[in-house]
Amino acid sequence: MSFSPDPLDTLQQVFGYDAFRGNQQAIIEHVVAGGDALVLMPTGGGKSLCYQIPALVRPGVGVVVSPLIALMQDQVDALLELGVRAAFLNSTLDWREARQVEQAFQSGQIDLLYVAPERLLTDRCLEMLSRGKVALFAIDEAHCVSQWGHDFRPEYLGLSVLAERWPEVPRIALTATATTATRHEIVHRLQLDGAQQFVSSFDRPNICYRIVEKNEVRRQLLNFIQTEHDGDCGVVYALSRAKVEETADFLCRQGVQALPYHAGLSATQRAENQSRFLREDGIVMVATIAFGMGIDKPDVRFVAHIDMPKSVEGYYQETGRAGRDGAPATAWLAYGLQDVMQQRRMIDESPGDTAFKRRLGQQLDAMLGLCETVNCRRQRLLAYFDQQIEPCGNCDTCLEPPQAWDGTVAAQKMLSAVYRLWRERNQRFGGGHLIDILRGKLTDRVRQNQHETLTVFGVGNDLSEQAWRGVLRQLLAMNILAVDHEGYGTLALTDASRPVLKGETTLMFRREAEKVGRQSRVAKP
Ligand code: ADP
Ligand code: ZN
Repeated sequence: MSFSPDPLDTLQQVFGYDAFRGNQQAIIEHVVAGGDALVLMPTGGGKSLCYQIPALVRPGVGVVVSPLIALMQDQVDALLELGVRAAFLNSTLDWREARQVEQAFQSGQIDLLYVAPERLLTDRCLEMLSRGKVALFAIDEAHCVSQWGHDFRPEYLGLSVLAERWPEVPRIALTATATTATRHEIVHRLQLDGAQQFVSSFDRPNICYRIVEKNEVRRQLLNFIQTEHDGDCGVVYALSRAKVEETADFLCRQGVQALPYHAGLSATQRAENQSRFLREDGIVMVATIAFGMGIDKPDVRFVAHIDMPKSVEGYYQETGRAGRDGAPATAWLAYGLQDVMQQRRMIDESPGDTAFKRRLGQQLDAMLGLCETVNCRRQRLLAYFDQQIEPCGNCDTCLEPPQAWDGTVAAQKMLSAVYRLWRERNQRFGGGHLIDILRGKLTDRVRQNQHETLTVFGVGNDLSEQAWRGVLRQLLAMNILAVDHEGYGTLALTDASRPVLKGETTLMFRREAEKVGRQSRVAKP
């Protein structure tokens, strides 16, 4: 088939759009001219056209490497409908079908070929590619090459072979998620040193970011959905399969049309739930992060996290699935003390060397910083991607600025309680008991251990239990207190505790919304 050599004609005639968006035109012209490119564009920004149009305009077949096998069929069908001859090669084809595709490639009868990376790297596939004419290589979801990222795919490391075997064929790597570090890693591992980088704004102005303190998360979630997104399509992310199931059940019982999605479901069940989510209105998908990559549903009105994501990149990627149509959408996250404890524990227990753990720790700290900030969430989020903006006016901290309070004295009380227990009694305890001591509560445990005789007993009865939990959470978030996981989640001082105890630092904390606390206390039996 012959397409116009002019990218704009192709955009209009084949894809039916009037004009390019953002960087598209510059990227396309660069690749059409044979240049390598690294494209950083947020989800929904329009990355696909950046390789599809050059593939049509340049002679030969555009080869697209994508890890999203489940979506290839849909992508190919959509292109076929536009009159573009597209095909894919992955493990879902039987040998006969694969043969047909291979022959079509060699005789130049297709325009675009989608290939799974593990397939591409087989000798058979590489040989096939050398027998035909390749217009360009597009490496989609290029951040999968990053070993530090949450989507690492070892096969991606092998893709440097493309630079070695086809130095004259332009390569375009695309991703929606890249900090400066990830960007460097992509360039390095895919041998894209000479590639021009196209970085779009990562701002998604129509998404309102909100992070609330977690207390009864299922109720909070239900309340959020019912009051703000009744009947809307949305995604709820949870960390574990069990929590996904439980939450989906709960929402269904409360009249929300919710479906579960996680890697423990059968492939058929997953495919069915995904297609219902895509085709029906108002479905809420409760999922682990196994769900969502590459899903192009424009009218997702909210993304809710009931567990804190492990990194800001993950959070950005997941929340970015909301509001792709540009209409207002909400990114809602409930975050609490348990999230900090759990994630620190997961890092401690993860296999991997010290450097790896340190990196995970830094990613977590950045995420915690976003949760605890009293400044604009969007500003903080974009700063993570090296983009500076003014306070946005469309996030919770802009709309209802939280108060900050000087928590230095409270922190000192908590740290001295940990210190005294350790020095005077050689004991370590978890947060709950510590707060009981500070608030002077005569519980059984306090009596058994004679903790009412400690000098710190009752010194903190000026603050509510909730406020103390907030102090504890923020101290953990700032690494001023540490959780000892071998000691069943007991608390210990860190190097950062000393300056606080000595009065050398001032600590400003977020004031917790007491209203939420009061409601939840009433609701509890
Ligand atoms: P990404 O891969 O960056 O997440 P897509 O390539 O899937 O984004 O594009 C997102 C949506 O925007 C798609 O529905 C696509 O058809 C549409 N789109 C892309 N470019 C344009 C354009 N220039 N004009 C209008 N719509 C566009
Ligand atoms: Zn803001």
